[in-house]
Amino acid sequence: MKPYERTGVLSVNDLKIPSEKQLEKGVAITECVQEIPCNPCVDSCPVDAISMNDINAPPVVDYNKCIACGQCVGVCPGLAIFVVKKQNEKGLLTLPYEFLPVPKKDEVVETIDRDGEQIGEGVIKRVKKQGKTIVVTVELDAKDLMNARHIKVREKDE
Ligand code: SF4
Ligand code: SF4
Repeated sequence: MKPYERTGVLSVNDLKIPSEKQLEKGVAITECVQEIPCNPCVDSCPVDAISMNDINAPPVVDYNKCIACGQCVGVCPGLAIFVVKKQNEKGLLTLPYEFLPVPKKDEVVETIDRDGEQIGEGVIKRVKKQGKTIVVTVELDAKDLMNARHIKVREKDE
């Protein structure tokens, strides 16, 4: 039994890790490991970079084909797709966000790991509505790119 089957939390070791060159180009990471009949991510991709052996199989991204467009992020009902792009010491993480308040461009937010712990902070670079899902791009430290998977908007002083 893999640890995530007990804890429900994936770790970096459960993922297909992109090469440094692929990270610099930008790629989608699918953190979807359960065998469920679902495939909107496959249909959303304009370059056919996501494949599945069958409708129940976990998706696989061809990192060489992926153009980091982010189309798959907003269509995933499991909120399980992230786009990561490394830029020198910084990284850009694009993630689905379904909480209120919605962050604004240039806002400083906390970056949160898969366990729900704060690991740093980031600056919002883009907020986009994709269907019913808000898709946010946050700039953070490159070292946190494969670990941060959520953001927390800071409470404003009254
Ligand atoms: S980010 Fe764009 S190109 Fe990459 S897998 Fe998702 S939809 Fe396809
Ligand atoms: S859309 Fe999301 S939940 Fe469905 S198969 Fe793709 S990654 Fe998994």
